[in-house]
Amino acid sequence: MIPEEIVNEIRQRADIVEVIGEFVRLEKAGQNYKGLCPFHKEKTPSFIVNPAKQIFHCYGCGTGGNVFTFLMKHEQYSFPETLHVLARRFGVRLPEKSDDISTQQLQQTERLYQLHLEAGAFFAEQLRSRPEAKIAREYLRKRGIDEEAQQRFGFGYALPGWDALRRKFIQKYGEELLLESGLVIKRKSEEGDDARQMAVGSYDRFRDRLMIPIHDERGRIIAFGGRILGDGQPKYMNSPENPIFHKSKTLFGFHHVKDAVRRAGTIVLVEGYFDMIVPFAHGVPNIAATMGTALTDQHLRTLQRYAQKVTLIFDPDPAGVNAMMKALDLFLTYGFEVRAGILPTGDDPDTFVRKSGVAEFQRIVEHAPLLLDFIRDRIIERYDTSRLDQQIACVNQLVPIIAKIQNEVEWRAQIAKTADVLHITDAALLAELRKITRTATIQPREEVKTATTIPIIEQYVVTALLKDKRLISKAQAHIQPDELSHPLTRRVLKALFVYGDKSDFEAKMLDMFQGSQFQGELSRLFMRSEEVVDPEVTLQDCITKLHQQRFEQATLDLTRKTQDAQERKDRFDLDFLLEQKNQDLLRKKQQLMRKPT
Ligand SMILES: [Zn+2]
Repeated sequence: MIPEEIVNEIRQRADIVEVIGEFVRLEKAGQNYKGLCPFHKEKTPSFIVNPAKQIFHCYGCGTGGNVFTFLMKHEQYSFPETLHVLARRFGVRLPEKSDDISTQQLQQTERLYQLHLEAGAFFAEQLRSRPEAKIAREYLRKRGIDEEAQQRFGFGYALPGWDALRRKFIQKYGEELLLESGLVIKRKSEEGDDARQMAVGSYDRFRDRLMIPIHDERGRIIAFGGRILGDGQPKYMNSPENPIFHKSKTLFGFHHVKDAVRRAGTIVLVEGYFDMIVPFAHGVPNIAATMGTALTDQHLRTLQRYAQKVTLIFDPDPAGVNAMMKALDLFLTYGFEVRAGILPTGDDPDTFVRKSGVAEFQRIVEHAPLLLDFIRDRIIERYDTSRLDQQIACVNQLVPIIAKIQNEVEWRAQIAKTADVLHITDAALLAELRKITRTATIQPREEVKTATTIPIIEQYVVTALLKDKRLISKAQAHIQPDELSHPLTRRVLKALFVYGDKSDFEAKMLDMFQGSQFQGELSRLFMRSEEVVDPEVTLQDCITKLHQQRFEQATLDLTRKTQDAQERKDRFDLDFLLEQKNQDLLRKKQQLMRKPT
Protein backbone atom coordinates (compact mmCIF):
# COMPACT_ATOMS: atom_id res chain seq x y z
CA MET A 1 0.00 0.00 0.00
CA ILE A 2 1.19 3.47 -0.88
CA PRO A 3 0.46 6.04 1.86
CA GLU A 4 -2.23 8.60 1.18
CA GLU A 5 0.11 11.61 1.38
CA ILE A 6 2.14 10.13 -1.45
CA VAL A 7 -0.97 9.39 -3.51
CA ASN A 8 -1.94 13.04 -3.02
CA GLU A 9 1.50 14.24 -3.98
CA ILE A 10 1.50 12.18 -7.18
CA ARG A 11 -1.96 13.47 -8.09
CA GLN A 12 -0.92 17.05 -7.49
CA ARG A 13 2.27 16.78 -9.52
CA ALA A 14 0.88 14.83 -12.47
CA ASP A 15 -0.70 17.49 -14.64
CA ILE A 16 -3.83 16.05 -16.20
CA VAL A 17 -3.57 18.11 -19.39
CA GLU A 18 -0.04 16.89 -19.99
CA VAL A 19 -0.89 13.26 -19.28
CA ILE A 20 -4.10 13.12 -21.33
CA GLY A 21 -2.52 15.30 -24.03
CA GLU A 22 -0.21 12.44 -24.80
CA PHE A 23 -3.18 10.32 -25.86
CA VAL A 24 -5.78 12.84 -26.96
CA ARG A 25 -5.39 15.83 -29.24
CA LEU A 26 -6.55 18.62 -26.93
CA GLU A 27 -7.51 22.14 -27.89
CA LYS A 28 -8.00 25.06 -25.56
CA ALA A 29 -11.65 26.03 -25.13
CA GLY A 30 -12.09 28.80 -22.57
CA GLN A 31 -10.91 27.57 -19.17
CA ASN A 32 -10.97 23.99 -20.40
CA TYR A 33 -9.43 21.75 -23.02
CA LYS A 34 -11.52 19.83 -25.47
CA GLY A 35 -10.88 16.81 -27.67
CA LEU A 36 -12.29 13.68 -29.27
CA CYS A 37 -13.17 11.16 -26.60
CA PRO A 38 -10.87 8.11 -26.59
CA PHE A 39 -13.55 6.03 -24.90
CA HIS A 40 -16.24 6.21 -27.56
CA LYS A 41 -16.44 6.95 -31.27
CA GLU A 42 -17.25 10.56 -32.04
CA LYS A 43 -16.58 13.23 -34.61
CA THR A 44 -17.29 16.37 -32.62
CA PRO A 45 -15.46 16.74 -29.32
CA SER A 46 -17.43 16.19 -26.14
CA PHE A 47 -14.43 15.21 -24.05
CA ILE A 48 -13.47 18.01 -21.65
CA VAL A 49 -10.40 18.38 -19.46
CA ASN A 50 -10.49 20.97 -16.69
CA PRO A 51 -6.96 21.99 -15.64
CA ALA A 52 -8.09 23.99 -12.59
CA LYS A 53 -9.91 21.04 -11.06
CA GLN A 54 -7.58 18.45 -12.65
CA ILE A 55 -10.51 16.36 -13.85
CA PHE A 56 -11.94 15.18 -17.17
CA HIS A 57 -15.43 14.32 -18.32
CA CYS A 58 -17.01 13.17 -21.56
CA TYR A 59 -20.52 14.46 -22.16
CA GLY A 60 -20.94 11.85 -24.90
CA CYS A 61 -20.41 8.62 -22.99
CA GLY A 62 -20.35 9.88 -19.41
CA THR A 63 -16.83 8.67 -18.64
CA GLY A 64 -14.95 10.91 -16.26
CA GLY A 65 -12.53 11.13 -13.38
CA ASN A 66 -9.09 12.39 -12.45
CA VAL A 67 -5.65 11.72 -13.89
CA PHE A 68 -5.52 8.25 -12.30
CA THR A 69 -8.90 7.29 -13.70
CA PHE A 70 -7.79 8.25 -17.18
CA LEU A 71 -4.71 6.03 -17.15
CA MET A 72 -6.57 3.16 -15.51
CA LYS A 73 -9.28 3.25 -18.15
CA HIS A 74 -7.14 4.11 -21.13
CA GLU A 75 -4.07 1.97 -20.45
CA GLN A 76 -5.84 -0.68 -18.37
CA TYR A 77 -3.44 -0.11 -15.49
CA SER A 78 -4.35 -1.12 -11.96
CA PHE A 79 -4.37 1.66 -9.37
CA PRO A 80 -0.89 0.77 -7.99
CA GLU A 81 0.50 0.52 -11.53
CA THR A 82 -0.87 3.97 -12.31
CA LEU A 83 0.78 5.37 -9.20
CA HIS A 84 4.13 3.82 -10.12
CA VAL A 85 4.03 5.08 -13.68
CA LEU A 86 3.15 8.63 -12.66
CA ALA A 87 5.50 8.68 -9.68
CA ARG A 88 8.42 7.83 -11.92
CA ARG A 89 7.39 10.28 -14.57
CA PHE A 90 6.81 13.22 -12.24
CA GLY A 91 9.66 12.47 -9.88
CA VAL A 92 7.81 11.39 -6.75
CA ARG A 93 9.74 8.97 -4.55
CA LEU A 94 7.81 5.88 -3.55
CA PRO A 95 8.45 3.99 -0.31
CA GLU A 96 11.21 1.40 -0.85
CA LYS A 97 9.46 -1.86 -0.24
CA SER A 98 6.25 -2.52 -2.08
CA ASP A 99 5.90 -6.15 -2.98
CA ASP A 100 2.34 -6.55 -4.23
CA ILE A 101 1.79 -8.48 -7.44
CA SER A 102 1.05 -5.50 -9.67
CA THR A 103 4.35 -3.95 -8.63
CA GLN A 104 6.13 -7.10 -9.72
CA GLN A 105 4.23 -7.06 -12.99
CA LEU A 106 5.19 -3.47 -13.52
CA GLN A 107 8.81 -4.20 -12.78
CA GLN A 108 8.59 -7.04 -15.28
CA THR A 109 7.26 -4.62 -17.92
CA GLU A 110 9.96 -2.09 -17.11
CA ARG A 111 12.59 -4.78 -17.41
CA LEU A 112 11.23 -5.75 -20.83
CA TYR A 113 11.62 -2.15 -22.03
CA GLN A 114 15.12 -2.05 -20.58
CA LEU A 115 16.06 -5.35 -22.24
CA HIS A 116 14.83 -4.11 -25.62
CA LEU A 117 16.73 -0.87 -25.21
CA GLU A 118 19.95 -2.71 -24.44
CA ALA A 119 19.37 -5.33 -27.14
CA GLY A 120 18.92 -2.48 -29.64
CA ALA A 121 22.26 -0.98 -28.61
CA PHE A 122 23.88 -4.43 -28.76
CA PHE A 123 22.64 -5.11 -32.32
CA ALA A 124 23.67 -1.60 -33.44
CA GLU A 125 27.17 -2.15 -32.08
CA GLN A 126 27.50 -5.43 -34.02
CA LEU A 127 26.44 -3.64 -37.21
CA ARG A 128 29.12 -0.98 -36.74
CA SER A 129 32.02 -3.14 -35.65
CA ARG A 130 31.70 -6.74 -36.82
CA PRO A 131 33.29 -7.96 -40.03
CA GLU A 132 30.36 -10.41 -40.41
CA ALA A 133 28.04 -7.40 -40.62
CA LYS A 134 29.63 -6.11 -43.83
CA ILE A 135 26.84 -7.59 -45.95
CA ALA A 136 24.26 -5.77 -43.79
CA ARG A 137 26.07 -2.45 -44.14
CA GLU A 138 26.24 -3.04 -47.90
CA TYR A 139 22.53 -3.75 -47.99
CA LEU A 140 21.67 -0.44 -46.32
CA ARG A 141 24.03 1.47 -48.57
CA LYS A 142 22.41 -0.05 -51.67
CA ARG A 143 19.00 0.98 -50.44
CA GLY A 144 20.26 4.54 -50.20
CA ILE A 145 19.94 4.73 -46.43
CA ASP A 146 22.64 7.11 -45.28
CA GLU A 147 24.47 7.23 -41.97
CA GLU A 148 22.00 9.70 -40.47
CA ALA A 149 18.96 7.57 -41.28
CA GLN A 150 20.79 4.48 -40.02
CA GLN A 151 21.37 6.18 -36.69
CA ARG A 152 17.87 7.48 -36.56
CA PHE A 153 16.22 4.11 -37.09
CA GLY A 154 18.79 2.36 -34.93
CA PHE A 155 19.57 -0.42 -37.39
CA GLY A 156 21.54 -3.33 -36.05
CA TYR A 157 22.87 -6.73 -36.89
CA ALA A 158 22.26 -10.12 -35.27
CA LEU A 159 25.29 -12.40 -35.40
CA PRO A 160 25.10 -15.75 -37.20
CA GLY A 161 25.76 -17.89 -34.07
CA TRP A 162 23.05 -19.41 -31.92
CA ASP A 163 23.48 -17.54 -28.69
CA ALA A 164 25.26 -14.19 -29.03
CA LEU A 165 22.33 -12.26 -27.57
CA ARG A 166 21.49 -14.94 -25.06
CA ARG A 167 25.03 -14.99 -23.67
CA LYS A 168 25.10 -11.22 -23.47
CA PHE A 169 21.89 -10.85 -21.43
CA ILE A 170 21.20 -14.13 -19.61
CA GLN A 171 23.01 -13.06 -16.44
CA LYS A 172 21.33 -9.71 -16.14
CA TYR A 173 17.77 -10.59 -17.17
CA GLY A 174 17.39 -14.33 -16.66
CA GLU A 175 16.04 -16.90 -19.07
CA GLU A 176 12.37 -16.36 -18.26
CA LEU A 177 12.39 -12.71 -19.28
CA LEU A 178 14.43 -13.42 -22.42
CA LEU A 179 11.85 -16.02 -23.42
CA GLU A 180 8.99 -13.67 -22.64
CA SER A 181 10.50 -11.00 -24.88
CA GLY A 182 10.65 -13.51 -27.73
CA LEU A 183 14.28 -12.61 -28.40
CA VAL A 184 15.22 -16.16 -27.51
CA ILE A 185 13.31 -19.36 -28.20
CA LYS A 186 13.01 -22.40 -25.98
CA ARG A 187 14.93 -25.35 -27.36
CA LYS A 188 12.77 -28.39 -27.89
CA SER A 189 14.36 -31.38 -26.16
CA GLU A 190 14.16 -33.68 -29.19
CA GLU A 191 16.28 -31.36 -31.28
CA GLY A 192 19.64 -33.04 -31.57
CA ASP A 193 21.37 -30.42 -33.66
CA ASP A 194 24.89 -30.01 -32.30
CA ALA A 195 24.92 -26.26 -32.70
CA ARG A 196 21.67 -25.89 -30.80
CA GLN A 197 22.90 -28.16 -28.05
CA MET A 198 25.51 -25.55 -27.30
CA ALA A 199 22.88 -23.14 -26.12
CA VAL A 200 21.43 -24.75 -23.07
CA GLY A 201 17.66 -24.45 -22.84
CA SER A 202 17.19 -21.68 -25.39
CA TYR A 203 18.71 -20.00 -28.43
CA ASP A 204 18.56 -16.65 -30.27
CA ARG A 205 15.53 -16.02 -32.46
CA PHE A 206 17.35 -13.61 -34.76
CA ARG A 207 20.53 -14.87 -36.42
CA ASP A 208 22.47 -13.33 -39.29
CA ARG A 209 19.81 -10.73 -39.91
CA LEU A 210 19.64 -6.99 -40.39
CA MET A 211 17.81 -5.80 -37.28
CA ILE A 212 15.15 -3.09 -37.35
CA PRO A 213 13.94 -1.86 -33.95
CA ILE A 214 10.18 -1.36 -33.61
CA HIS A 215 9.14 1.47 -31.30
CA ASP A 216 5.94 2.40 -29.55
CA GLU A 217 4.31 5.79 -29.86
CA ARG A 218 6.57 7.16 -27.16
CA GLY A 219 9.72 5.94 -28.88
CA ARG A 220 10.54 2.97 -26.66
CA ILE A 221 11.78 -0.18 -28.40
CA ILE A 222 9.15 -2.90 -27.97
CA ALA A 223 10.14 -5.45 -30.61
CA PHE A 224 12.43 -6.09 -33.58
CA GLY A 225 12.04 -6.93 -37.21
CA GLY A 226 14.82 -8.95 -38.78
CA ARG A 227 15.52 -9.03 -42.50
CA ILE A 228 17.42 -11.91 -44.00
CA LEU A 229 20.54 -10.90 -45.90
CA GLY A 230 20.85 -13.82 -48.28
CA ASP A 231 18.16 -15.76 -50.09
CA GLY A 232 16.76 -17.64 -47.08
CA GLN A 233 13.23 -17.71 -45.76
CA PRO A 234 11.37 -16.04 -44.23
CA LYS A 235 12.52 -12.74 -45.68
CA TYR A 236 11.26 -10.85 -42.65
CA MET A 237 10.88 -12.15 -39.15
CA ASN A 238 9.30 -10.19 -36.29
CA SER A 239 9.36 -10.50 -32.54
CA PRO A 240 6.26 -12.36 -31.40
CA GLU A 241 3.64 -10.44 -29.43
CA ASN A 242 4.79 -9.87 -25.87
CA PRO A 243 3.46 -7.85 -22.94
CA ILE A 244 4.77 -4.62 -24.49
CA PHE A 245 4.35 -5.41 -28.20
CA HIS A 246 0.94 -5.66 -29.85
CA LYS A 247 0.87 -5.67 -33.64
CA SER A 248 -2.67 -4.37 -33.81
CA LYS A 249 -1.64 -1.24 -31.90
CA THR A 250 1.70 -0.59 -33.53
CA LEU A 251 2.48 1.58 -36.53
CA PHE A 252 6.08 1.24 -37.61
CA GLY A 253 8.00 4.53 -37.60
CA PHE A 254 5.13 6.48 -36.09
CA HIS A 255 7.11 7.96 -33.21
CA HIS A 256 9.50 9.56 -35.74
CA VAL A 257 6.70 11.30 -37.58
CA LYS A 258 3.95 11.97 -35.05
CA ASP A 259 4.76 15.66 -34.62
CA ALA A 260 4.88 16.20 -38.37
CA VAL A 261 1.61 14.29 -38.72
CA ARG A 262 -0.02 16.43 -36.07
CA ARG A 263 1.15 19.61 -37.79
CA ALA A 264 0.02 18.49 -41.23
CA GLY A 265 -3.14 16.76 -39.99
CA THR A 266 -2.45 14.07 -42.56
CA ILE A 267 -0.51 10.80 -42.78
CA VAL A 268 0.65 8.42 -45.51
CA LEU A 269 0.23 4.75 -44.60
CA VAL A 270 2.26 1.98 -46.22
CA GLU A 271 2.80 -1.70 -45.55
CA GLY A 272 6.47 -2.60 -44.98
CA TYR A 273 9.51 -1.41 -43.04
CA PHE A 274 11.44 -0.13 -46.04
CA ASP A 275 8.31 1.32 -47.62
CA MET A 276 8.32 3.63 -44.62
CA ILE A 277 12.07 4.03 -44.08
CA VAL A 278 13.14 4.84 -47.65
CA PRO A 279 10.54 7.57 -48.39
CA PHE A 280 11.12 9.04 -44.91
CA ALA A 281 14.89 9.07 -45.40
CA HIS A 282 14.31 10.83 -48.71
CA GLY A 283 12.16 13.54 -47.13
CA VAL A 284 8.54 12.34 -46.74
CA PRO A 285 7.91 13.63 -43.20
CA ASN A 286 4.53 12.04 -42.39
CA ILE A 287 4.67 8.36 -43.26
CA ALA A 288 4.22 5.18 -41.18
CA ALA A 289 3.67 1.48 -41.85
CA THR A 290 1.31 -1.19 -40.56
CA MET A 291 2.97 -4.27 -39.11
CA GLY A 292 1.85 -6.74 -41.76
CA THR A 293 -1.69 -6.78 -40.37
CA ALA A 294 -4.90 -5.17 -41.50
CA LEU A 295 -5.71 -1.78 -40.01
CA THR A 296 -7.50 -2.06 -36.69
CA ASP A 297 -9.69 0.08 -34.46
CA GLN A 298 -6.64 0.57 -32.26
CA HIS A 299 -4.67 2.05 -35.15
CA LEU A 300 -7.45 4.43 -36.05
CA ARG A 301 -7.95 5.53 -32.47
CA THR A 302 -4.28 6.41 -32.34
CA LEU A 303 -4.38 8.18 -35.70
CA GLN A 304 -7.53 10.07 -34.77
CA ARG A 305 -5.52 12.02 -32.23
CA TYR A 306 -3.10 13.27 -34.88
CA ALA A 307 -4.70 13.41 -38.30
CA GLN A 308 -8.00 13.79 -40.10
CA LYS A 309 -6.70 12.76 -43.51
CA VAL A 310 -5.03 9.51 -44.47
CA THR A 311 -3.51 8.44 -47.77
CA LEU A 312 -3.10 4.70 -48.17
CA ILE A 313 -0.45 3.49 -50.58
CA PHE A 314 -1.15 -0.02 -51.70
CA ASP A 315 -0.88 -2.60 -54.38
CA PRO A 316 -3.87 -2.26 -56.73
CA ASP A 317 -4.11 -6.04 -57.30
CA PRO A 318 -7.42 -7.77 -56.35
CA ALA A 319 -6.12 -8.81 -52.91
CA GLY A 320 -4.98 -5.25 -52.25
CA VAL A 321 -8.33 -3.82 -53.37
CA ASN A 322 -10.20 -6.23 -51.08
CA ALA A 323 -8.02 -5.25 -48.14
CA MET A 324 -8.72 -1.60 -48.92
CA MET A 325 -12.47 -2.21 -49.00
CA LYS A 326 -12.24 -3.52 -45.45
CA ALA A 327 -10.11 -0.56 -44.42
CA LEU A 328 -12.58 1.84 -46.05
CA ASP A 329 -15.37 0.60 -43.78
CA LEU A 330 -13.30 1.33 -40.72
CA PHE A 331 -12.13 4.73 -41.92
CA LEU A 332 -15.65 5.82 -42.77
CA THR A 333 -16.92 4.84 -39.34
CA TYR A 334 -14.24 7.03 -37.79
CA GLY A 335 -14.96 9.90 -40.16
CA PHE A 336 -11.50 10.13 -41.76
CA GLU A 337 -10.97 11.55 -45.20
CA VAL A 338 -9.10 8.69 -46.81
CA ARG A 339 -7.39 8.61 -50.20
CA ALA A 340 -5.90 5.89 -52.34
CA GLY A 341 -2.38 6.46 -53.64
CA ILE A 342 -1.74 4.11 -56.54
CA LEU A 343 1.80 3.33 -57.65
CA PRO A 344 2.67 1.84 -61.05
CA THR A 345 2.29 -1.95 -61.16
CA GLY A 346 5.28 -3.76 -59.72
CA ASP A 347 6.42 -0.81 -57.62
CA ASP A 348 6.26 -0.30 -53.90
CA PRO A 349 7.08 2.97 -52.10
CA ASP A 350 10.66 1.81 -51.46
CA THR A 351 11.50 0.99 -55.09
CA PHE A 352 9.43 3.85 -56.46
CA VAL A 353 11.14 6.56 -54.41
CA ARG A 354 14.59 5.26 -55.28
CA LYS A 355 13.72 5.06 -58.98
CA SER A 356 11.50 8.09 -59.56
CA GLY A 357 12.40 10.38 -56.68
CA VAL A 358 10.53 11.72 -53.72
CA ALA A 359 8.89 14.61 -55.62
CA GLU A 360 7.12 12.16 -57.88
CA PHE A 361 6.01 10.14 -54.85
CA GLN A 362 4.61 13.27 -53.21
CA ARG A 363 2.81 14.14 -56.42
CA ILE A 364 1.02 10.77 -56.33
CA VAL A 365 0.09 11.34 -52.69
CA GLU A 366 -1.25 14.82 -53.40
CA HIS A 367 -3.32 13.74 -56.37
CA ALA A 368 -4.62 10.55 -54.81
CA PRO A 369 -8.36 10.05 -55.43
CA LEU A 370 -10.75 9.52 -52.53
CA LEU A 371 -10.59 5.85 -51.57
CA LEU A 372 -14.37 5.80 -51.78
CA ASP A 373 -14.30 6.92 -55.43
CA PHE A 374 -11.55 4.44 -56.19
CA ILE A 375 -13.40 1.52 -54.58
CA ARG A 376 -16.70 2.54 -56.20
CA ASP A 377 -15.08 2.52 -59.62
CA ARG A 378 -13.47 -0.89 -58.95
CA ILE A 379 -16.85 -2.29 -57.88
CA ILE A 380 -18.65 -0.86 -60.89
CA GLU A 381 -15.98 -2.35 -63.18
CA ARG A 382 -16.98 -5.78 -61.94
CA TYR A 383 -20.52 -5.43 -63.29
CA ASP A 384 -22.07 -4.99 -66.70
CA THR A 385 -24.33 -2.12 -65.70
CA SER A 386 -26.19 -2.13 -69.01
CA ARG A 387 -27.98 -5.24 -67.73
CA LEU A 388 -30.67 -4.57 -65.16
CA ASP A 389 -29.89 -7.56 -62.88
CA GLN A 390 -26.19 -6.62 -62.80
CA GLN A 391 -27.05 -3.01 -62.17
CA ILE A 392 -29.15 -4.03 -59.15
CA ALA A 393 -26.40 -6.29 -57.83
CA CYS A 394 -23.93 -3.44 -58.20
CA VAL A 395 -26.19 -0.98 -56.36
CA ASN A 396 -26.62 -3.56 -53.59
CA GLN A 397 -22.89 -3.71 -53.12
CA LEU A 398 -22.41 0.06 -53.15
CA VAL A 399 -25.27 1.13 -50.92
CA PRO A 400 -23.88 -0.25 -47.62
CA ILE A 401 -20.63 1.60 -48.26
CA ILE A 402 -22.31 4.92 -48.96
CA ALA A 403 -24.50 4.46 -45.90
CA LYS A 404 -21.41 4.56 -43.70
CA ILE A 405 -20.29 8.01 -44.78
CA GLN A 406 -20.52 10.25 -41.72
CA ASN A 407 -20.09 13.60 -43.39
CA GLU A 408 -23.38 14.92 -44.74
CA VAL A 409 -21.84 16.93 -47.60
CA GLU A 410 -19.66 14.04 -48.70
CA TRP A 411 -22.61 11.69 -48.43
CA ARG A 412 -24.73 13.85 -50.77
CA ALA A 413 -21.84 14.26 -53.21
CA GLN A 414 -21.24 10.53 -53.25
CA ILE A 415 -24.89 9.79 -53.97
CA ALA A 416 -24.87 12.19 -56.90
CA LYS A 417 -21.61 10.78 -58.32
CA THR A 418 -22.68 7.16 -57.93
CA ALA A 419 -26.12 7.70 -59.43
CA ASP A 420 -24.46 9.46 -62.31
CA VAL A 421 -22.03 6.65 -63.08
CA LEU A 422 -24.79 4.04 -62.83
CA HIS A 423 -27.22 6.08 -64.96
CA ILE A 424 -29.92 5.99 -62.30
CA THR A 425 -31.62 8.87 -60.49
CA ASP A 426 -30.49 10.17 -57.10
CA ALA A 427 -33.99 9.40 -55.84
CA ALA A 428 -33.70 5.72 -56.77
CA LEU A 429 -30.39 5.42 -54.95
CA LEU A 430 -31.75 7.28 -51.93
CA ALA A 431 -34.68 4.87 -51.80
CA GLU A 432 -32.23 1.96 -51.62
CA LEU A 433 -30.27 3.75 -48.92
CA ARG A 434 -33.40 4.30 -46.91
CA LYS A 435 -34.17 0.58 -47.08
CA ILE A 436 -30.81 -0.27 -45.64
CA THR A 437 -31.19 2.33 -42.90
CA ARG A 438 -34.55 0.85 -41.99
CA THR A 439 -33.20 -2.67 -41.82
CA ALA A 440 -30.59 -1.26 -39.45
CA THR A 441 -27.52 -2.42 -41.31
CA ILE A 442 -26.07 0.88 -40.24
CA GLN A 443 -24.73 0.67 -36.75
CA PRO A 444 -26.45 3.20 -34.53
CA ARG A 445 -24.01 5.84 -33.39
CA GLU A 446 -22.43 4.87 -30.13
CA GLU A 447 -23.07 8.07 -28.26
CA VAL A 448 -25.20 7.46 -25.23
CA LYS A 449 -26.31 10.31 -23.06
CA THR A 450 -26.14 9.07 -19.51
CA ALA A 451 -29.23 9.93 -17.56
CA THR A 452 -28.67 10.93 -13.99
CA THR A 453 -30.91 9.90 -11.13
CA ILE A 454 -29.72 12.62 -8.76
CA PRO A 455 -32.60 14.95 -7.81
CA ILE A 456 -32.08 18.34 -9.40
CA ILE A 457 -32.10 20.29 -6.10
CA GLU A 458 -29.34 18.08 -4.73
CA GLN A 459 -27.29 18.63 -7.87
CA TYR A 460 -27.65 22.37 -7.40
CA VAL A 461 -26.68 22.28 -3.72
CA VAL A 462 -23.43 20.57 -4.59
CA THR A 463 -22.59 22.55 -7.73
CA ALA A 464 -23.31 25.88 -6.03
CA LEU A 465 -20.97 25.00 -3.16
CA LEU A 466 -18.28 23.83 -5.57
CA LYS A 467 -18.55 27.05 -7.51
CA ASP A 468 -18.16 29.20 -4.41
CA LYS A 469 -16.67 27.32 -1.50
CA ARG A 470 -17.10 30.31 0.82
CA LEU A 471 -20.77 29.27 0.98
CA ILE A 472 -19.93 25.98 2.70
CA SER A 473 -20.35 27.33 6.24
CA LYS A 474 -23.74 28.77 5.36
CA ALA A 475 -24.86 25.45 3.94
CA GLN A 476 -23.59 23.70 7.04
CA ALA A 477 -25.89 25.84 9.18
CA HIS A 478 -28.99 24.93 7.17
CA ILE A 479 -28.57 21.50 5.57
CA GLN A 480 -27.69 18.11 7.00
CA PRO A 481 -26.05 15.70 4.53
CA ASP A 482 -28.62 13.08 5.54
CA GLU A 483 -31.38 15.29 4.17
CA LEU A 484 -30.12 14.53 0.67
CA SER A 485 -31.68 11.40 -0.78
CA HIS A 486 -28.99 10.38 -3.28
CA PRO A 487 -25.96 8.52 -1.85
CA LEU A 488 -23.57 10.40 -4.12
CA THR A 489 -24.65 13.94 -3.24
CA ARG A 490 -24.79 12.89 0.41
CA ARG A 491 -21.15 11.74 0.29
CA VAL A 492 -20.04 14.87 -1.55
CA LEU A 493 -21.80 17.19 0.88
CA LYS A 494 -20.27 15.39 3.86
CA ALA A 495 -16.84 15.66 2.27
CA LEU A 496 -17.40 19.33 1.42
CA PHE A 497 -18.17 20.02 5.08
CA VAL A 498 -14.95 18.30 6.14
CA TYR A 499 -12.34 19.32 3.59
CA GLY A 500 -14.18 21.36 0.98
CA ASP A 501 -11.74 24.23 1.32
CA LYS A 502 -8.86 22.14 -0.08
CA SER A 503 -7.87 23.28 -3.55
CA ASP A 504 -7.65 19.73 -4.93
CA PHE A 505 -11.01 18.73 -3.48
CA GLU A 506 -12.50 17.50 -6.77
CA ALA A 507 -9.58 15.38 -7.93
CA LYS A 508 -9.18 13.93 -4.44
CA MET A 509 -12.86 13.16 -4.06
CA LEU A 510 -12.76 11.26 -7.37
CA ASP A 511 -10.17 8.91 -5.89
CA MET A 512 -12.75 7.70 -3.40
CA PHE A 513 -14.83 6.52 -6.35
CA GLN A 514 -12.17 4.86 -8.54
CA GLY A 515 -13.84 2.00 -10.36
CA SER A 516 -17.29 2.93 -9.04
CA GLN A 517 -20.35 3.39 -11.23
CA PHE A 518 -20.73 6.87 -9.73
CA GLN A 519 -17.44 8.22 -10.97
CA GLY A 520 -18.77 9.55 -14.27
CA GLU A 521 -21.70 11.15 -12.43
CA LEU A 522 -19.29 12.78 -10.05
CA SER A 523 -17.02 14.22 -12.75
CA ARG A 524 -20.12 15.53 -14.52
CA LEU A 525 -21.27 17.30 -11.34
CA PHE A 526 -17.81 18.77 -10.87
CA MET A 527 -17.73 20.06 -14.45
CA ARG A 528 -21.26 21.38 -14.18
CA SER A 529 -20.40 23.59 -11.22
CA GLU A 530 -18.76 25.94 -13.73
CA GLU A 531 -22.19 26.64 -15.17
CA VAL A 532 -23.71 27.95 -11.93
CA VAL A 533 -24.18 31.67 -12.53
CA ASP A 534 -25.04 32.93 -9.06
CA PRO A 535 -24.08 30.32 -6.47
CA GLU A 536 -25.42 32.30 -3.53
CA VAL A 537 -28.92 32.68 -4.95
CA THR A 538 -28.88 29.07 -6.11
CA LEU A 539 -27.93 27.82 -2.67
CA GLN A 540 -30.60 29.98 -1.06
CA ASP A 541 -33.26 28.53 -3.35
CA CYS A 542 -32.09 25.03 -2.61
CA ILE A 543 -32.17 25.56 1.15
CA THR A 544 -35.73 26.88 0.95
CA LYS A 545 -36.86 23.99 -1.24
CA LEU A 546 -35.15 21.40 0.93
CA HIS A 547 -36.84 22.84 4.02
CA GLN A 548 -40.18 22.74 2.29
CA GLN A 549 -39.55 19.13 1.37
CA ARG A 550 -38.55 18.29 4.92
CA PHE A 551 -41.68 19.98 6.22
CA GLU A 552 -43.91 18.16 3.77
CA GLN A 553 -42.28 14.89 4.65
CA ALA A 554 -42.75 15.51 8.38
CA THR A 555 -46.40 16.43 7.88
CA LEU A 556 -46.89 13.28 5.85
CA ASP A 557 -45.30 11.18 8.58
CA LEU A 558 -47.50 12.70 11.26
CA THR A 559 -50.62 12.22 9.19
CA ARG A 560 -49.76 8.58 8.72
CA LYS A 561 -49.13 8.09 12.44
CA THR A 562 -52.37 9.90 13.29
CA GLN A 563 -54.36 7.68 10.95
CA ASP A 564 -52.65 4.72 12.47
CA ALA A 565 -53.60 5.79 15.99
CA GLN A 566 -57.19 6.42 14.89
CA GLU A 567 -57.41 2.93 13.49
CA ARG A 568 -56.03 1.47 16.69
CA LYS A 569 -58.48 3.72 18.58
CA ASP A 570 -55.58 4.78 20.78
CA ARG A 571 -57.00 7.91 22.36
CA PHE A 572 -53.86 8.85 24.25
CA ASP A 573 -51.56 8.47 21.26
CA LEU A 574 -53.93 10.36 19.04
CA ASP A 575 -54.12 13.36 21.34
CA PHE A 576 -50.39 13.43 21.64
CA LEU A 577 -49.85 13.20 17.89
CA LEU A 578 -52.40 15.87 17.06
CA GLU A 579 -50.78 18.20 19.55
CA GLN A 580 -47.38 17.51 18.04
CA LYS A 581 -48.75 18.14 14.57
CA ASN A 582 -50.11 21.52 15.60
CA GLN A 583 -46.89 22.61 17.19
CA ASP A 584 -44.89 21.38 14.30
CA LEU A 585 -47.00 23.22 11.79
CA LEU A 586 -46.63 26.42 13.74
CA ARG A 587 -42.88 26.08 14.08
CA LYS A 588 -42.37 25.21 10.41
CA LYS A 589 -44.54 28.10 9.39
CA GLN A 590 -42.44 30.50 11.42
CA GLN A 591 -39.28 28.99 10.03
CA LEU A 592 -40.48 29.45 6.48
CA MET A 593 -41.53 33.03 7.07
CA ARG A 594 -38.15 33.92 8.50
CA LYS A 595 -35.78 33.72 5.55
CA PRO A 596 -32.46 32.11 6.44
CA THR A 597 -29.50 34.44 6.26
ZN1 LIG B 1 -16.82 9.56 -24.47
